Amino acid sequence: MTSTEFKQLKERSKDTKEEIKRLLSLVNANPLSLMTVEEYKHVKTKVQNALRSIRAYKLAENIERCGSRVKVGSEVVRRVCSSLYCRKCREKAVYNYQQRLLKRFQEELKGDKNKLQDRWIYLTVLCAVTNFEVKEVSKAVDEARVVLGKFIRKYKGAWIEGAFEFELVDLDDVAVYDDDSSVKKATLRAMMSGNGTFTGKKILVHYHAVLDIGNRNDTHVREMKKWFNEKYNIHSRQTRLHYTVKYQDVKDKIWKISSYAFKNRLRYNKSFVTSGWKTGKHFRNRDAGRLIKLYDDFMNRRSGSVRSLLIGMGG
Ligand SMILES: [Zn+2]
Repeated sequence: MTSTEFKQLKERSKDTKEEIKRLLSLVNANPLSLMTVEEYKHVKTKVQNALRSIRAYKLAENIERCGSRVKVGSEVVRRVCSSLYCRKCREKAVYNYQQRLLKRFQEELKGDKNKLQDRWIYLTVLCAVTNFEVKEVSKAVDEARVVLGKFIRKYKGAWIEGAFEFELVDLDDVAVYDDDSSVKKATLRAMMSGNGTFTGKKILVHYHAVLDIGNRNDTHVREMKKWFNEKYNIHSRQTRLHYTVKYQDVKDKIWKISSYAFKNRLRYNKSFVTSGWKTGKHFRNRDAGRLIKLYDDFMNRRSGSVRSLLIGMGG
């Protein structure tokens, strides 16, 4: 292990230490069952093959050996890979998000389901279509954070919790599809205009978040919709604000929101339909590898942990 790698490893374990120990034991004792054992085995194999196919051996090893102790000199640190393609790290991310939403629900909304229905808005923003370049992805994230900062300053008391996602899209594939995917195609086309030809594999940088509007009403929500629409005005589907599903158990709702924010997709979703990936084409090993590596590169440029993907603003 080189000193840079060790530094990175330490960086990843630093702010967490006790927290990681606590969370890992929680995850181990009570798996969130995001996937069945079989599904996870499949993901694990695919991830290893994918990373090896692009010769990202170090990352493959980090993911494979996540959670194990490693001794360097006199120090012992715990390996934490922070990849969403690692079962433990993904479950930890989901668990943490779930806890933050539950805390908000209990403390701010006093556990009132009706308040949640009135105040929580599901917010999705498609920020940019970029190449497989960590610089481009990073820039898109930074720009989105600036816009979110403006929003929070404008709407005092509003609160946002969410996460960025880098979705792999195959424009050649999107281009020949219709039905459910025609909206996605039109949106991607608009976002790509003036940005090269509509072909090849790209990254759709976007985020999903929960927005608590505070003590506001319908009229404000319409105004907020307009606000986001003006900031992202290339296509109307670039932004989406909608109330959460009514008549859904709060725990279920929070569970769904949290797991959806941290996906470990290995298949394409040609449409905006949430479950569209289930019938989507599988990523080729090489592309899956590049995507997993992209997340890792992104994190390494920042805090080194899943935190780099998080959005937590307002109060
Ligand atoms: Zn891990």
